[in-house]
Amino acid sequence: MDSIVHNLKAVNTQVSNFSQLYERKIEDITLLCVSKTKPEDMVIEAYNSGERHFGESYAVEASEKIASLKEKGYKDIIWHFIGPIQKNKTKLIAEHFDIVESVDREIVAKRLNDQRPPFKKPLEVLIQVNISDEDQKSGCLISDVDALVKAIDALPNLKLRGFMGIGKDTENRAEIEAEFAQLQSLFNEYKTKRADFDILSMGMTQDMDLAIKKGSTEVRIGTAIFGARVYKSKEMEQNNIAFIGGGNMASCIYDSIVKGFDAKNITVSGPHIEKLEKFKAQGSAVTTDNIEAVKNAKVVFLGVKPQILTSVLEEIASSGADLSDKLFVSMAAGFKLSSISDKLNTHRIIRIMPNTPAKLGLGVIAVSYDNAVSDADKALVKTMLKNMGACIEGDEQALNVIGAVCGCGPAFVYRFMEALISEAVAHGIDEKDARIMVEQTVFGSASMVIKNQDSTIASLREAVTSKGGTTFAGLTKMTEGNFEGIMKNTIQASLDRTYEFEKMF
Ligand SMILES: *Cc1c(COP(=O)(O)O)cnc(C)c1O
Repeated sequence: MDSIVHNLKAVNTQVSNFSQLYERKIEDITLLCVSKTKPEDMVIEAYNSGERHFGESYAVEASEKIASLKEKGYKDIIWHFIGPIQKNKTKLIAEHFDIVESVDREIVAKRLNDQRPPFKKPLEVLIQVNISDEDQKSGCLISDVDALVKAIDALPNLKLRGFMGIGKDTENRAEIEAEFAQLQSLFNEYKTKRADFDILSMGMTQDMDLAIKKGSTEVRIGTAIFGARVYKSKEMEQNNIAFIGGGNMASCIYDSIVKGFDAKNITVSGPHIEKLEKFKAQGSAVTTDNIEAVKNAKVVFLGVKPQILTSVLEEIASSGADLSDKLFVSMAAGFKLSSISDKLNTHRIIRIMPNTPAKLGLGVIAVSYDNAVSDADKALVKTMLKNMGACIEGDEQALNVIGAVCGCGPAFVYRFMEALISEAVAHGIDEKDARIMVEQTVFGSASMVIKNQDSTIASLREAVTSKGGTTFAGLTKMTEGNFEGIMKNTIQASLDRTYEFEKMF
């Protein structure tokens, strides 16, 4: 997962570049962030980057998201409904949204008008115009627009502000451009007659440039900001999931899973129910009863600390619950597969060890399998973890090494960064600047390594090291200070500590 902040920067730059290219004023174009199917925390991330307009397509999912975010204090978001409108969903839409862009028939307009709560200001609406001439797409036919405009004007709780159109899903860009041009001229026709007509909503990730060229005042962008949408897969639906423990890492795994899996099929258990609020907010069941969670689950994530895992395993084993149909996934560090299988009397167990950058989708997840884990189990768990980063498979000894290099690794890298920053500051650089300098240097160097898979890292280093030069002088000191020796001892010490832990459980 690319960072949303980063994606937003790129999208805003694109909007700005296209508006320059097509001689539009940047302030005339609103970016609507389309967050349908995406979790609340992604909305919050975009919000924290300064975005205030969000678009949703599914009334039930959206209403829950909006209510929950309002409760958390995100009250100044302007929510746009952009999906097809079913008659039985108009009440939810009228209650929760600020603007509805997909009004395409009179009955829907009338119901939204009647169901708009009286204490709220009139609901703003756009008419969705069918410009792509595809039967299956919703939208008012151009020939019917005039009648619908008149009908909406007569409804006191609705305020019409313009048109919305969806370009045809085709490789033929000239065709899309012609559709946008058609909607633009319809819009301009009305705009000359009425001053309150000011929104022309056109353009998505694939055709935003054409839309800006043809006068769009609002581009609706989903994929380029939040990544591809994962619709809940059948295969995952059949697998109820339990989380024993809702701490930090469990939460990170949970977040990855709910991107492709219905949160409603997940049960999270923990000793303090009030700490499980965030799972409940996403639609999952929560309980203080571990056995209750395990009972109906096909996949059980063991997310408790290693120190209490033994007692949790004993509790599960002695509950009498049928464990034969269950896959267990443990994230307890230092806790061997054999220690788990001894207690549970099954070998369908997977050990995983994600490192902390997994929270950003940039993690390394070490994965090790017991002998009764099937290929289907492996594939399922890898699908569940794919939003956290790269999975590296290995035996349990490899797991320990991956733990030392990648689990402890971030701290080693932080230490290195701290040292660079403090040297920059010691030589007179402002603390804030020093941090930016080092962040960019480490991020940039890692990116160089990633982008240049055909080069060895040594050759990248040599490319910036001329003999007798400044880098050369610095590297020589690293050698004299036995840098490799220090790293060797560092990794060995982490490994030795892992072995000590293993003996404890
Ligand atoms: C989903 C959706 C979008 C966003 O599409 P992307 O291709 O992800 O940018 C825009 N408009 C409407 C009406 C949508 O349903």
